[in-house]
Formats: sequence, C-alpha cells, structure tokens
Amino acid sequence: MTRIRSLFLRMTTALCGVLIFDSLMFITGSFIENENYFNMLVSSITGKLMFAPPATVAVALLHHYMKSSEEKNTNNIGDFFNLLTYRQKYELAKTDSLVDPMTRLYNRRAFDKACEEWIDIGSYAILMIDADNFKKVNDELGHDTGDQVIKDIAAAITTELRGSDVAYRFGGEEFVVFLPYTEMNDAIRIGNRIRQSLTQRITEMPLPDGRQITLSIGVAVAPKDGKYSTEVIKQADQRLYWAKNNGKDQVAYSMG
Ligand code: GH3
Ligand code: MG
Ligand code: MG
Repeated sequence: MTRIRSLFLRMTTALCGVLIFDSLMFITGSFIENENYFNMLVSSITGKLMFAPPATVAVALLHHYMKSSEEKNTNNIGDFFNLLTYRQKYELAKTDSLVDPMTRLYNRRAFDKACEEWIDIGSYAILMIDADNFKKVNDELGHDTGDQVIKDIAAAITTELRGSDVAYRFGGEEFVVFLPYTEMNDAIRIGNRIRQSLTQRITEMPLPDGRQITLSIGVAVAPKDGKYSTEVIKQADQRLYWAKNNGKDQVAYSMG
C-alpha cells in the first residue's frame, strides 16, 4: 500500500507539473493580451488538475496489479518513475564525489576535469594560493585549529569571487581559483582582496596565540602565459614558488 501511495504521489506531481506548464504556455501564447487572461489561466489549470488524481489512481492501480501478476520482469510504468529517482541519486553522488567535505569547495578531482575545458574559454586567469607557514599552526596549535584555518581560507576566497569564478581545494592548504575572462590586473586585485579578507576573518576570530595567517598567491593568465591549461597552471605555480622564496604574504605575477 505504501508503494502505491508513493508511486501515486510521484506520478501526480509529475503530471500536475506537465499540465500546469502546458496551460501556462498555451494560454499565455494565445491570450496574453486578453483582459480575462488571468481568469482563463486559472480555469484552464484548475480544469486540467482535476483530471490528474483520477488518472494517476488508475495508472498506479494498473501498475500494482501488473506487478503482482506473473510478468514481474518486464519494464512497466513504475520502473520509469524509479529510473528518474535513480538518476537523481546518481547525479547527487557524482556531485558529492567532486566536492571537498571540509570546505564545500570543489576538490582536486573536479579541478582535473574542469581544466580540460578551459581551452574553450580561451581568456582566463588562475590564482594558485598556499597558506604561509601552515605546518607551524598544526604543530603549535593543533590539527583542529589547522582545520578551522583551512575553512577560514575557503570562506575568505568564496566571499571575494564573482558568480562565474570557481574555487577548488587543490589539496591540504592549497587552493586554485579559476577566473574566466579576467585580465592580469583584475586577477591581482582579486588575489589581494582574498588576502585582506582572510586577515579580517582571523582578526575577528583570533588564533589562540594571536598569530596572523597569511597567503602567498601566484597568478597567470591565458592566453598570454600559455594556450593550454597545463602551461597556465605551471606558470601560476612557479610564481607562487617565487612568492614563497621572496618573503611570502604577497601576490606574484612575474618572477622578479
Ligand atoms: P609554506 O609557507 O612554505 O607553504 O610552509 P607550510 O608550513 O605551509 O608548508 P606546506 O605548505 O608544505 O605545509 C602544508 C601542511 O598542511 C602540511 C600538512 O600537515 C597540513 N595539512 C594538509 N592537509 C590538512 C588538513 O586537512 N588539515 C590540517 N589541519 N592540516 C593539513
Ligand atoms: Mg603552505
Ligand atoms: Mg602547501
């Protein structure tokens, strides 16, 4: 009985959705300028929705009796609706496997998939971000504080991004930010805003020893620094390395 009810609910919802959409398209397309447009729309939707429950009761009962008959292995209507839910579950699992559970940013796996597609965009900037002296935070203040700092860095990055930008947790306390259609000057500005945003966060929630956490950032832009994402990423990585060897706590966009 529970199975019938659940199938009935799913089918009714799907059917109602289709009927509402159908009425909306037809009445809007044909009578949008009519002064009774709204009344026509309401009566059309009401009329069609009255048809939905009896139709789905009939199909749900039919499905139930087909199931209990000997033809249990054949495809039937219930399987079609179950398929929809399996697909949704699959999509959710796929999303989960691309997201880092600690920061809710995309993970390294998502990054590897995405950078293959960046060549289609052609013009973009990459920020490679690494926290400075992070090992000391773990060693002196404990792993839990280290985790909290990683979440703070992720939040500082996220608040400074525009809708089209994407941040990835590359691993440990390293992050990559993809900025489509962004020039070098704007990328440097965004990098500096992320550094300031982190400083503000840490000031508001100071670490137990009052220490500041700083970031080193390497920037590269396509197509100037390379046509392929591997070249652009390598440039950003080399500039990050340069920043680390030249005092840390800065955005590097060249090697000197
Ligand atoms: P540098 O300024 O040169 O970057 O020095 P660093 O100490 O930050 O060196 P490095 O980047 O190599 O250190 C990364 C550390 O991050 C080492 C590792 O123990 C720690 N780490 C990696 N993942 C996590 C995590 O999920 N949580 C915590 N708390 N620590 C992590
Ligand atoms: Mg580091
Ligand atoms: Mg690191």
